[in-house]
Amino acid sequence: MEYRKLGNTGIQISALSLGSWLTFGKQIDNALAEELMIKAYDSGVNFFDNAEIYARGKSEEVMGDILHRLKWNRSSFMVSSKVYFGFEENKPNQRGLSRKHILEGCDAALKRLRVDYIDLFFCHRPDKNTPILETVQSMNTLIQQGKILYWGTSEWSAQEILQAHLEAERHHLIPPVIEQPQYNMLERKKMEDDYLHIFRYQGMGTTIWSPLSSGILSGKYLSQNPSDTRLSMDGMEWLRERNLTEEKLVKVKAIKIIADELKVTLPQFAIAWCLKNNHVSTVILGASKVKQLEENLEAINVLSLISSDMMLQIDEILSNKPVLSDF
Ligand code: NDP
Repeated sequence: MEYRKLGNTGIQISALSLGSWLTFGKQIDNALAEELMIKAYDSGVNFFDNAEIYARGKSEEVMGDILHRLKWNRSSFMVSSKVYFGFEENKPNQRGLSRKHILEGCDAALKRLRVDYIDLFFCHRPDKNTPILETVQSMNTLIQQGKILYWGTSEWSAQEILQAHLEAERHHLIPPVIEQPQYNMLERKKMEDDYLHIFRYQGMGTTIWSPLSSGILSGKYLSQNPSDTRLSMDGMEWLRERNLTEEKLVKVKAIKIIADELKVTLPQFAIAWCLKNNHVSTVILGASKVKQLEENLEAINVLSLISSDMMLQIDEILSNKPVLSDF
């Protein structure tokens, strides 16, 4: 495993990590979830990603039970949660980034995860109804209380992140140090354009999500319509519509030819491509089967096989590389 510095923090994070969205507490049973965590940990993964909304709290409960059972040394791994969406009764104040929901959400996540502190605590989305200063103050409070170690944002705009830094500096509070955006061959703008300023001047680290665009970049949708996948799950029609388009599949097919020539699998190639970006601190993997995780963890060994010429060839196929005007 390779370890990367998490932005400006003193933390070393494994370049590949494991997430639980749609799998833990939902698509897979708890025994398989445990197998995945053991496989990841034994391969050097030191970060496990979670959120209050995943399977409406169940994902954190499943992960918490596993952590409790496995009794890994607490200093050998990091676990995250994310606050924003809530999931209780949809009453006012049960979601968002107010002081009330942040503090209550953190306490609830600590209980479900069965840990004394959360290593990385994210604001899952920006909250237009809460002043950013209130959110920064609340995260700062949690750090002072020892309930979280670092805080970050997920899918915030660069402007919102900058404002959080500004408020933190002005009020001598601890700023966000990590952002969790989507990043993969089909989704590049935030990581390769919008955030360049905050990488350069704020030194943010990133824990990027959906490296395979929910499985599209595995290539399995090219010649068949597999039925045992997240895109065929009830309630996932929106994700299928968003991700499974003809335009994307044409690109996936062309990228697969390069992966084939390199004699690596398409998922490994697509994940290694994410790692080529130095602003990526960790790629969060998702897996519904152990053999998927085993395959994806090998991406680390594919990284050095991807040449600069190949990167240019990929850019040409994808034709979505942001054009930078001000850098
Ligand atoms: P991916 O885009 O990599 O999708 C993972 C899914 O793709 C797997 O569950 C599996 O689904 C399929 N897959 C994975 N590997 C293979 C393979 N080798 N061959 C074939 N199919 C494969 O990542 P996720 O979308 O799961 O995102 C990763 C993590 O990021 C999440 O678990 C979560 O922790 C985090 N995340 C954060 C978000 C945020 O807003 N902050 C949003 C989304 C995710 P199947 O077998 O069902 O097809």
